Amino acid sequence: MTTLNEFSSCVAQYDPHALPVSAAQAIVRQWATPVTAVERVPLRDALGRVLAADIVSPINVPSHDNSAMDGYAFNSAALATSESTVNLTIAGKALAGHPFQGHVDTTQCVRVMTGACMPADCDTVVPQELVERSADSTSIRFAANALRAGANRRLAGEDLARGHAALRAGRIMRASDLGLLASLGIGEVNVRRRLRVAFFSTGDELRSLGEPLDPGSVYDSNRYTLFAMLRRLNMDTLDLGVVRDEPAALEAALRSAAASADVVLTSGGVSVGEADFTKQLLQTFGDVAFWSLAMRPGRPLAFGRVWSGAHPGLGLPALFFGLPGNPVAVMVTFYQIVREALLLMSGATPQPLPVLRAASRQAIRKRAGRTEYQRGVAGQDAHGQWHVTPTGSQSSGVLSSMSEANCFIVLGHDEADIGEGEHVDIMLFDGLI
Ligand code: AMP
Ligand code: MG
Repeated sequence: MTTLNEFSSCVAQYDPHALPVSAAQAIVRQWATPVTAVERVPLRDALGRVLAADIVSPINVPSHDNSAMDGYAFNSAALATSESTVNLTIAGKALAGHPFQGHVDTTQCVRVMTGACMPADCDTVVPQELVERSADSTSIRFAANALRAGANRRLAGEDLARGHAALRAGRIMRASDLGLLASLGIGEVNVRRRLRVAFFSTGDELRSLGEPLDPGSVYDSNRYTLFAMLRRLNMDTLDLGVVRDEPAALEAALRSAAASADVVLTSGGVSVGEADFTKQLLQTFGDVAFWSLAMRPGRPLAFGRVWSGAHPGLGLPALFFGLPGNPVAVMVTFYQIVREALLLMSGATPQPLPVLRAASRQAIRKRAGRTEYQRGVAGQDAHGQWHVTPTGSQSSGVLSSMSEANCFIVLGHDEADIGEGEHVDIMLFDGLI
């Protein structure tokens, strides 16, 4: 068995004490194996799920050439006239759902409404705004140079052509995709089973909601943040509560989590304090790839595998992320390290979070040699240029900075102090978090 530990130590820049973020992401990506089980679900239940196979269009959409405008359909041969105007007699009409069945010669036209099938022999539509109708409403005239052959006609298969892939496997289904499949007459789809993610918090100081707060204790907020972030990614969540800072309790919790989930997330207990047992435990019945990143917040972050049995390789495996305890660090490490792995394991083709350049409205202190994710409020000025202001406190314990922010300010590994007005990368997260 190749262990994660052996694998990671071969990665360029491997330093288990301060692994660069990009190297950590590469290691995690390598170990994120997609689930294979597939479920067939009704179209509405497919929202947010991962498509298991390509969807090949069984039909053309639209199924017939049709009019893009309210107007008059005619044969474009009528445009090839030496006159400055085209005169056509109205042979009938076609509405959406009510085609015109007759024959149309080059001196005739058919009144058409948007979406109506193009009558046979017709290839062009003149919009009604461009025509003058005769007093008795039997004919129309319009300027011969007003339009080109083929204008205002939607072609059969223009949206989706029969036999072509309409959606690719790995797609996370969005609103437009549900509509698109409905337009193909498809009412059920095969999606990957949801990834099951178990999580718990560690710390003797943590109290669950409903319990009294005795001196020195804090409410456990990480389980709620994690629950919400996981739900946003459509994960199947398993909340295992708060676990005390005791090796035996932690081991039991990790093993039972591995028995019932694909991925185990914990928060707290991964730094080097006296009550931080997670790393030691992983070394005995798990496999650790790294436990410290060149990242802020988020330096103590353990990644590896755990098993439900008493030794590595025994029982059921799960990927393990031991996130830091600080509430902001939990969110930053989730989005920068965990998210991609969860999506890959779900069978999805993850899209990176979009990055923009923005002028910083303040000088920012930054130490080269680690990637920093500060919280910022970004906006656009009157000329559409992006700017960003760091939120007040950048302490990783201040969760209100995440609520106030709408983006991460991403300061790269090699970047140093940023001057006021200098450009920085920002990752907008409104709508995501
Ligand atoms: P640790 O990584 O366990 O040393 O925790 C770092 C800091 O985060 C400490 O101040 C903890 O009290 C706090 N913390 C840890 N877990 C949680 C949690 N689940 N909810 C809120 N704060 C936490
Ligand atoms: Mg702790």
